[in-house]
Amino acid sequence: METVRTRFAPSPTGSLHVGGARTALFNYLFARKHHGTLVLRVEDTDVVRSTEASEAVILQDLKWLGLPWQEGPDKPGAFGPYRQSERLDRYEKWVKVFQEKGSVYRCFCTENELERKRKAALASGQTPRYDGQCRSLTREEIQHFESEGKTFTWRLNLASPNLALGKEIVVPDLVRGEVHFETELIGDFVLIKSNGYPSYNFACVVDDHEMAISHVIRGDEHLTNTPRQIILYQALSWPLPSFAHLSMILAPDHTKLSKRHGTTAVS
Ligand code: GLU
Repeated sequence: METVRTRFAPSPTGSLHVGGARTALFNYLFARKHHGTLVLRVEDTDVVRSTEASEAVILQDLKWLGLPWQEGPDKPGAFGPYRQSERLDRYEKWVKVFQEKGSVYRCFCTENELERKRKAALASGQTPRYDGQCRSLTREEIQHFESEGKTFTWRLNLASPNLALGKEIVVPDLVRGEVHFETELIGDFVLIKSNGYPSYNFACVVDDHEMAISHVIRGDEHLTNTPRQIILYQALSWPLPSFAHLSMILAPDHTKLSKRHGTTAVS
């Protein structure tokens, strides 16, 4: 029988919100029902916004709610460490696999350039996605940029024959059934940021795999990330976990619950 392992993976960039608490509750109940394990993983890869104080508040609020976890930053287990900032060697190891296969490339585009393109795409009614500008840089161009001290990100080349992507990526979801995404609408996404930290999608897949997570239960604002994550699982020949995307808590006016509607922090 499959061992159930779920996880709650907050980013310590603020307080625990009721939406997060609801996601944690589902993960706790599902693990408990199946005599499984709930892992608490701290996703602190946003170096600017993550704080230790926020992590402490989130852990404290989960405890106050009575939602205990069995493995986490304060509960060492076989799959730790449980803070992403302490797992950088893992992401380096796995990005190397992509580098060796030639399915990632250095992208030297600046934030400003990317932002300008994003806005232009939105203004013309298109879904913004990276246009692949740095996909075919020559060795000389790369050396030139590096000698200028330009920083770069590592992007996954979705056109790489190694990935052998079809026209669609199908997300099998326990709540919504099969959700279809057109591959064409997904741009080459970042695996490693210019500061050496992993992107959310990359770190999430590496950790969910290495922590042997059987069920990824999270808010459906992450549903559009899941096809990207499935591309990574397939590229690394890793089995998919089961996915369940939960609807968000809405305000009485049926828009996303936010500070506008009152206080949303658990505390
Ligand atoms: N750190 C992400 C968040 O707080 C977690 C998303 C996930 O569960 O994969 O939204």
